[in-house]
Amino acid sequence: MQLLQDSFGRKFPYIRMSITDVCNFKCGYCLPNGYQVDKSDNRKFLHLDEIKRLAKCFSELGVCKIRITGGEPTVRKDFFDIVKVLKFESGIKKVVITTNGYHLDQKAKQLVDSGLNGINISIDSLDRETFKNITNHDRLPEILQGIKNLQDLGFENIKINGVLLNGVNASEKDFNKWSEFIKNNKIDYRYIELMRTGDNLDYFNKYHVSSKVFKDYLNKNKWIYQTLGKDAGPSLNYINPDYKGKFGIIAPYSKDFCKSCNRLRITSRGDLRLCLFGNTGISIRHLLQKDEQLEELKDLILKQMRFKKESHYLELGETGLTKNLSTTGG
Ligand code: SAM
Ligand code: SF4
Repeated sequence: MQLLQDSFGRKFPYIRMSITDVCNFKCGYCLPNGYQVDKSDNRKFLHLDEIKRLAKCFSELGVCKIRITGGEPTVRKDFFDIVKVLKFESGIKKVVITTNGYHLDQKAKQLVDSGLNGINISIDSLDRETFKNITNHDRLPEILQGIKNLQDLGFENIKINGVLLNGVNASEKDFNKWSEFIKNNKIDYRYIELMRTGDNLDYFNKYHVSSKVFKDYLNKNKWIYQTLGKDAGPSLNYINPDYKGKFGIIAPYSKDFCKSCNRLRITSRGDLRLCLFGNTGISIRHLLQKDEQLEELKDLILKQMRFKKESHYLELGETGLTKNLSTTGG
């Protein structure tokens, strides 16, 4: 059963749900000055009950997977309650998170025990100093230890994402380091092209580089492009029989990126966003207040689907509502 479909025939089995805008890192491309309270919006972040109703509604609309993101989702005190409610009380089959890996070494066991189905960890560089310069936190060792702890506990679905930054982490030496890392590690590493947001124009102009540099590296080193099924999502994946992990590229500026869009987004304050970028989005929070509103909520979401546009128009410099990705969760 898959009810969420737009006017271009795309289906949406997948939701990205931001549960907070707060973050404890200061990544140069996202929150270079750290999290700042948004004085123009005094709405609280979604409450556990609202999250549960939302997930139940999406599950009844055929959604099978929710990614919890942020800001940094793990800073919420009720983070593990949220995971449990989504996983065991909402009808959603797969619950995954995107995290910066803060204190991952200490949290690994609790994450595994919570029933999560997958973890995406953001690591822009395997060089400690570079990692520190990008995030303003000297935490690479604890994150790598956290990954090891997850693996020792038998947790398998681990992916790492890094934002590709010209002159920072986009050289052959950087690519070789990741290549060594995934050789005997069943972990996928994906480079995301730096996206321009409302707040990061100067940073973007300084560091944006096309993912072609990495694609050329992959081709030169005999990585094989893996064609994927129709509903596979926007990552281009590469395999190599000598490696346990895979490489991937997420290139939002590429021509056909939006064709494989299979996700909707919910912001931390309960707005439905039809696209990471673009101005289409409405608050659905007023319909998250009582269990009896479920049918009305489903109806509203289904009606919104016809407003989803064909493309994000990023290549035209469009940033829509997106000041930085901490509000929508990337
Ligand atoms: N704090 C968590 C983390 O960093 O994994 C989750 C939220 S973060 C906004 C989600 C993803 O968006 C991260 O992988 C981050 O690197 C990526 N991201 C943030 N700003 C970006 C930008 N301007 N362009 C491309 N990716 C970006
Ligand atoms: Fe925080 Fe994630 Fe943004 Fe970095 S990318 S500042 S970790 S929300």
